[in-house]
Amino acid sequence: MKLLQMIEKKQRNSRVVARSESLVQGLPVTILVQKAIFAKKALERPTMNPIQATHQRSIQQKDAFWREEAAGVHWETPFTEVLDYSNPPFARWFVGGRTNLCFNAVDRWLDTQADDPALVWVSTEVEQEVTYSRRDLYREVNAVAAMLQAQGVVRGDRVLIYMPMVPEAVFAMLACARLGAIHSVVFGGFASVNLAQRIDDASPKVIVCADAGSRGGKVTPYKPLLDKAIALAQRPPAKVLVVNRGLFAFEPVAGRDLDYASLRHQYEGAVVPVTWLESSEPSYVLYTSGTTGKPKGVQRDTGGYAVALASSMQRIFNGKPGDTYLCTSDIGWVVGHSYIVYGPLIGGQTTILYEGTPVRPDGGILWSLVERFKVNTMFSAPTAIRVLKKHDESLLKKYDLSTLRALYLAGEPLDEPTAQWISDGLGRPIIDNYWQTETGWPILAAQPGIANVPTKFGSPSFPVYGFDVRVLNEETGADLGPNQKGVVAIVPPLPPGAMTTIWGDDARFVETYFSSVPGRQVYSTFDWGSKDDDGYWFILGRTDDVINVAGHRLGTREIEESINCHAAVAESAVVGIADQLKGQVAVGFAVLKDAGLFSQSEQLLKLEGDIMRLVDEQLGPVARPARVRFVTALPKTRSGKVLRRAIVAVCEGRDPGDLTTIEDPSALEQIKDSL
Ligand code: AMP
Repeated sequence: MKLLQMIEKKQRNSRVVARSESLVQGLPVTILVQKAIFAKKALERPTMNPIQATHQRSIQQKDAFWREEAAGVHWETPFTEVLDYSNPPFARWFVGGRTNLCFNAVDRWLDTQADDPALVWVSTEVEQEVTYSRRDLYREVNAVAAMLQAQGVVRGDRVLIYMPMVPEAVFAMLACARLGAIHSVVFGGFASVNLAQRIDDASPKVIVCADAGSRGGKVTPYKPLLDKAIALAQRPPAKVLVVNRGLFAFEPVAGRDLDYASLRHQYEGAVVPVTWLESSEPSYVLYTSGTTGKPKGVQRDTGGYAVALASSMQRIFNGKPGDTYLCTSDIGWVVGHSYIVYGPLIGGQTTILYEGTPVRPDGGILWSLVERFKVNTMFSAPTAIRVLKKHDESLLKKYDLSTLRALYLAGEPLDEPTAQWISDGLGRPIIDNYWQTETGWPILAAQPGIANVPTKFGSPSFPVYGFDVRVLNEETGADLGPNQKGVVAIVPPLPPGAMTTIWGDDARFVETYFSSVPGRQVYSTFDWGSKDDDGYWFILGRTDDVINVAGHRLGTREIEESINCHAAVAESAVVGIADQLKGQVAVGFAVLKDAGLFSQSEQLLKLEGDIMRLVDEQLGPVARPARVRFVTALPKTRSGKVLRRAIVAVCEGRDPGDLTTIEDPSALEQIKDSL
């Protein structure tokens, strides 16, 4: 303290000196004053803000910290050990404790909130709105649990859910959790090949689906895509439970397809006892894209996830029971799992399930929901905001947003102009938060439930407690200091709520995530990042071939495999190119088997359309490349590796950098010309 006072006195003096002379030691007065003020600010800045202090405690005193956080959930049997890390990098949290996600989300609140809204479904697609109280939710979830039980679904069985944003999807997720069955929700934008891969990997006993969804007023069939996927799959389910919304006519498959409405009628009023799970037993598997063509089943535990969500609802989202939460993600993504379904419900909040786009009937729809339902916390993606930028700005001011505490955005980089635009428009804090399917909840975020620390646009602020996150040198594995770019890595154990393994493949979990940084067994996020002198972090793009289109994570390899299925294609390369609206778009470059076609522009145009349709059919519209161009060779190294970074640079009009290893420089010229 004495030292601090001395330095402060020195600074005061230095400012006085600076003011009294026009030039000191050859430096203009203003610079000296600025220097002195900066030095004082640095001193005034506590060595750690409360968020950083909480973070430090969570890393240094894991047991004590997480024992306290664990008090936020119901344990049927208390845990005997906070963390078992005897088999790194596999972490087991809250060992011996028995709990259940459905109980924490539904039953636990029946005493105090039975008649309060728990789930509000709003569909601007089919013009419907239904509010379910916690008691209604309990009834619906029990009915679905009974239906699944009647099909023989028991603890540990897998149930695949391929559904649009309808309440039955949420009931099905919670019903699985109630039974101790493992759900795997597949995003509705995926098509038959993607679905078949997931069916084969998860081997579900039952699949729950709907006849169709709707997007932008257009019906998008689900059932025929599922039928096609089941035909492709090696390990098809015994039963398919179909929610018939009356949007798309279909012929049920006899002996396999079950009608949800009839069974609901049959099981209405059923009570299915909760299956208590040991904390580490899996709750769900969610598939995500990587650099190989085979998606990874991210496996989540039960107790750790419940604790992470209960805790984050308070510390990151600054909420309390009785609040209302609107998350515009999709239940097929991790954000939907954590912050449409489990987080708000476990936190005793009302969750709004929205089926629709951010611009229909107009660009004010989301804000009208905030006003109407008195939303306290909202979570969306930067792409949605960039879309809104094209609409009437006055819509941001049209509605009463006084209940809204903050808008959280995640899933892709939040560019500064978009952050500034929405911040000015709403007059509410904008909280950029960074995470991955694998982590289940944010790695970096402002944490207003701990303290209000100013945010910086372009930065998702600080490490979240529990994540020992570092910036590392990709070649040496050494920790890097402020303002140095490196790989963002997490020193294990991963905290509660993060993935525990890859479904059915422990070796792949270790190999994929913990083996890429030299000399250290750390979890790689495969993102570049840096932190500044004030401890704010910045995410600077992927280190691998994964791209992010409008917040959807896609493996370029999967798209290439699909393009290569076209009979005319010999090989292809897909890259992500910067896009003003979607962040990135996929662009494919294909080499044709018949070089003669190369000069026939009409044929090529038709081929481009055919290839796009093929990707659509196999992987879904979400993966469809924005453009497919034809070249006679791909730019490769002499060892045969496609030079993706050089392709991206050329496509974005940048310098492709070091090309000494390229086999045929004219291949890159062709890429340039093809655009
Ligand atoms: P997903 O697993 O689909 O959620 O995608 C995770 C990836 O999205 C991360 O590895 C990042 O590349 C990117 N991402 C997510 N949130 C952010 C963010 N706030 N800022 C920058 N990139 C992000």
